[in-house]
Amino acid sequence: MSQNLPRTDPRPKVRLYVEQPLGQGQHIAVSQEQVHYLGNVMRMKPGEAVALFNGRDGEWRGVLTALAKRGGEAECDGQTAPQLNPPDLWLLFAPIKKARTDFIVEKAVEMGAARILPVQTEFTNSERIRRDRLQAHAVEAAEQSGGTHVPGVADLAPLARVLADWPEDRVLWWADEGLAGSDPIADPAPAPAAILIGPEGGFSPTERARLAALPFVRRLSLGPRILRADTAAVAALTLWQARHGDWG
Ligand code: SAM
Repeated sequence: MSQNLPRTDPRPKVRLYVEQPLGQGQHIAVSQEQVHYLGNVMRMKPGEAVALFNGRDGEWRGVLTALAKRGGEAECDGQTAPQLNPPDLWLLFAPIKKARTDFIVEKAVEMGAARILPVQTEFTNSERIRRDRLQAHAVEAAEQSGGTHVPGVADLAPLARVLADWPEDRVLWWADEGLAGSDPIADPAPAPAAILIGPEGGFSPTERARLAALPFVRRLSLGPRILRADTAAVAALTLWQARHGDWG
């Protein structure tokens, strides 16, 4: 739930993600948590408007018709933005420490990743992730960034299995720390594409050999210095978006 849109924006500044279909006159349930935010944090009252989006139907102005302790309701009153899906770019990353993993998910949404896939590599620090928590982070980041798309966060899966099931028409840009200080930055291929970022320990020799042998994998250098995994994710997404993305 966010108030980050500029005050001059004709769209309501408070944005809420909802699951229900959005359309003129639709009545949309507002959850208890959202009511708490609207009523107690934002001090909003029935009759005021919020922006609603569900990841499918664009953004709609929703006039609050009820705000009760157990939940509320809003009525859709006109579309304020069309559905805008980002280019078909996936981000694969090996989870690191909790706060840094949260950062990667948040930034991936802001930068316009279409899908987020945590992968378990040999040197992955964390064996487990709370997918639902990361998905909630993705929703919050979409609310804050004014986006209408919420990337799905997949369950943690072994890198080997993800590679075995890989759709061959999708180029996988392997951010390879082994290139640091040697080759120039490669030019990433257009969508459908994906970026792979390793954990703090980097990729194991076995993983490196496997990745290097796969026909859909290209190696990507992120410059002469070794970046932390969270920095590397943002840098790689920036490179790709600047070249092939929806930044204009
Ligand atoms: N421990 C590794 C080492 O010392 O070589 C560094 C791993 S780095 C902290 C985490 C991940 O960020 C890497 O696996 C890679 O995917 C990416 N990365 C960091 N710097 C990079 C660079 N200069 N070029 C390409 N990828 C980079």
